[in-house]
Amino acid sequence: MSKKEIKELKQRVARICNLVWENRLVTATGGNVSARVPNTNYVIIKPSGFHMYDVTPDNLIIVDVYGKIVEGNFKPSSETPMHTTVYRNRQDVGGIVHTHQAYATALGIANMPIQPIVIGLKPVLGFPIVPYVLGGTQELADAAVKGLGKHRLGVILQNHGILAVGSDVEDAFETALYMEELAKTQFIAMLAGKGKIRTLTTEEQKELLEKYGEEYLGIEKSEIQNIIRKMEAKE
Ligand SMILES: [Zn+2]
Repeated sequence: MSKKEIKELKQRVARICNLVWENRLVTATGGNVSARVPNTNYVIIKPSGFHMYDVTPDNLIIVDVYGKIVEGNFKPSSETPMHTTVYRNRQDVGGIVHTHQAYATALGIANMPIQPIVIGLKPVLGFPIVPYVLGGTQELADAAVKGLGKHRLGVILQNHGILAVGSDVEDAFETALYMEELAKTQFIAMLAGKGKIRTLTTEEQKELLEKYGEEYLGIEKSEIQNIIRKMEAKE
């Protein structure tokens, strides 16, 4: 990748950091954002101790996928192990966003996973709750990777926040926002329905996956069938 391309990717990461703040998915210096430099072992990541609104292309850090600092004047994010472990385990992931967004975090604290309540593929794949682990540790990184599995696009980190992944940093941010919208919708529905809500049936989820999974999730047909089999086995 050329210097110009790295510069452009840094601008995109800084922009998403700023958007995470504007959407109030974090407060203080919480949360972190990163992007894989395509076709390399390098990751551009937020510096530690910075507010999201203060992140600019110039204060971002480059580390390798094992967390070694390659470029930058500050300490990389305290959750760097979580980011690098995901990049090492999921070749399809090009961007990661970690936030402390209120509604999704609240559902995790209540032990209530985000349900497939609206038409959409990401909630059908599921956003599992990863049981509480101390932040900034390799243990949390391993637990998050386990929760993400092969295809999932987000997890709730119990008593902490969420982790969203995507093909690039914008895609990961979209999923973080989407998780918040879903959690908020589910929360309001549960209040309105006094805890009783209608989720999509297994049959309806299967239909969604079969019709749109390959096109919108980029998952091969045979893998879609595997996911469906697992879903039916759980029923
Ligand atoms: Zn955090």
